[in-house]
Amino acid sequence: MPKSISEIKLGILGGGQLGRMLVQAAKEWNLDCYVMDESDDFPSGNVGANFVLGNFKNYDDVYNFGRELDVLTVEIEHVNIDALFKLQQEGVEIHPRPESLNIIKDKGLQKSFYNKHKLPTSDFELFDDKDQIMKALSKGIIKLPFVQKSRLAGYDGKGVVLIKTEKELNEIMDVPSIIETLVNIQTEVSIIACRNKKGEIKCYPAVDMDFHEKANLVEFVYYPSKISLDKQKEATIIATQVIEKLNICGLLAVEMFIDNDNNILINEIAPRPHNSGHLTIEASVTSQFQQHLRGVCNLPLGDTRFHSAAVMINLLGWNGYSGTTRYSGIDDCLALEGASLHLYGKQTTKPYRKMGHATVLDKTRIKATKKAKSIKKLLKIYA
Ligand code: ADP
Repeated sequence: MPKSISEIKLGILGGGQLGRMLVQAAKEWNLDCYVMDESDDFPSGNVGANFVLGNFKNYDDVYNFGRELDVLTVEIEHVNIDALFKLQQEGVEIHPRPESLNIIKDKGLQKSFYNKHKLPTSDFELFDDKDQIMKALSKGIIKLPFVQKSRLAGYDGKGVVLIKTEKELNEIMDVPSIIETLVNIQTEVSIIACRNKKGEIKCYPAVDMDFHEKANLVEFVYYPSKISLDKQKEATIIATQVIEKLNICGLLAVEMFIDNDNNILINEIAPRPHNSGHLTIEASVTSQFQQHLRGVCNLPLGDTRFHSAAVMINLLGWNGYSGTTRYSGIDDCLALEGASLHLYGKQTTKPYRKMGHATVLDKTRIKATKKAKSIKKLLKIYA
């Protein structure tokens, strides 16, 4: 007999802000939660989960952590997958499945997966090192401009370089990587899908993302999306196909580009709660965190409708400061009607570090955007 939700021991690999918000959602159901990461100073350390010290990249740490659990999930892709395979063999429910994680954590395998399943993505080539890339350039196999992405361990724009001119060639990274065509991006959108073991799938509506020009990470997320309803439907079908073909339980965030010719191209995916879904905490009937729990515990999926227009802003560490975290302007932000603030409890800040986020609900996207932009000016995270 499957265990009821009140009997499940749930583990999360990774103790960052995604783990923190997942634990907070799990606590709403009084779920027995275990988190593993290297320091309980991390954002998930003080929100009521059983915190286990360990390195999620280490086989023994992950295996020993998972052995006593019923369900194990992740807030980061770069965990020890061999240990997950072993735990899965021994009967622990692992979601996302290690087979899917193996594909997703390597951008080369991810892109090849899209091609194999005829899912739209930009053209690409795989390379082992810088030398191979330079040779391919001299032979005309690849041409400027292009985007280089490290195959492994990319996160928040790290491991991604846009090479537009000859002068920028010295920025090429000497790592196994993919070289992608530079897309003329009109809009970056995200659809968060969720699936449970019964095969039920629900998608949140599309949201648009704006990237921070220097930090190369998402800064604003907007609902409703400005892309046409037809394109939103098309993007939802694509997201549904990806989650089905990868056989994922739990969330899958599918980031897509709409190019200047109105084509949809998958950029990348993440099998876990995602920054583009933070606004669901206040704006949707079911938050992405609760939806993930429903997906990984094989429960009925929640309603993904939004109550109103919404804009999320990431609160980033000030560029000129590294050190102990201090905030200013919190009162002014809280005074804004429709604004909610989430601070992740990181004790030290550094330039562009994600320290929290705010979500503004309002009657229209334009009104919510205005308030979110004012939060950017009002709230400062520095000494
Ligand atoms: P990460 O895994 O670090 O989030 P992404 O692959 O999402 O990296 O790339 C970060 C950002 O770089 C994207 O959101 C987009 O703005 C830009 N970018 C990535 N790939 C391309 C591309 N092929 N063409 C144009 N811009 C791109």
